[in-house]
Amino acid sequence: MPVLMYHSIADRPPRATAGLAVRPAAFADQMALLADEGFTPVPFSALAGGAAGVRRPIALTFDDGYADFHAAALPVLERHGFAATVFVTTGWLADAGPDAAGRPPTAMMAWSQVRESAASGIEIGAHSHGHPQLDQLPDPALADELTRSRGLLEDRLGTAVTTMAYPYGYSSARVRRAVRAAGYDSACAVANRLAPLPPAADGTLTVPRLTVRASTTLATFARIAGGRRIPLIFLRDRALTKGYAAVRRTRHGLRRVSRHG
Ligand SMILES: [Zn+2]
Repeated sequence: MPVLMYHSIADRPPRATAGLAVRPAAFADQMALLADEGFTPVPFSALAGGAAGVRRPIALTFDDGYADFHAAALPVLERHGFAATVFVTTGWLADAGPDAAGRPPTAMMAWSQVRESAASGIEIGAHSHGHPQLDQLPDPALADELTRSRGLLEDRLGTAVTTMAYPYGYSSARVRRAVRAAGYDSACAVANRLAPLPPAADGTLTVPRLTVRASTTLATFARIAGGRRIPLIFLRDRALTKGYAAVRRTRHGLRRVSRHG
C-alpha cells in the first residue's frame, strides 16, 4: 500500500522547506487524480489492520503540522471526503506557549487548527515534541520526547494517539523500543518503497513512505500511487536517505570524539 509523505503545501515556502513543499494547485491535481482513479485514502493507523475490504487503499500523511496544512490541504481533502494523517511536532505549534521547543522552519498550526483538523476526520499522530534526531538522545530525553508529545495531543484532543512519525524519517532499534514502550502501535519512516499490506509482524514501527516533493510531476505521482514501478528518482532518494543517516552518524561520532578528546 502506498503511504505518501507530504510536508508543506505552499506556493512560496521558505527555503528550509522548499524542496518538500508541494504547490496547492499540484496537490489539488493529485487529489483529483486519486478520486478519478477510485483510490480510498485511509488513516495511517488503518494500515496495521490491513485496510481490509478497502478499494485501492492509500495513506496520505503530512509531517510537522504546518499552518498550510489547515489552510491549503484540509479544504481539498474535505472536498473529496479523504482521510489523512498529520504528524504534529507539539513543541513547534504556534501557541505552544510554555511547551514551546525547538525552532519551526515555517508557520505552524495553532492548537485550535489541530483540533479543527481532528474534528474534520483527520487523524492526528505524534512527531516528537521538539523534532530532535531521536537516536542522538539519551534514554530519559528520548522517552520524554515520545511521551510528552503523545500526552499533549491526547490531553488537548481527547482522543488516543497511537501512531507517530520519526523526525528526519529514520529510527534505530533503541528508538523503536522506546516508541513501543511509550505506547505507540505504528510508526512511519521514509524509505521510498511501498508498505507491505498487511505489514510484517515486526514492521509496524518501520512503515516505509514515499516522498511527494516540489518536483514530483503528476505522471510520476500517478505511477507512485498506482504502486507500479517506482521511478528511479525515488530509488535515488532512498539511497540519499541512507547516506544522510550515515553522514550524520559519522559527524556525531566525530563530535563525540572531539568532546571527549
Ligand atoms: Zn518532521
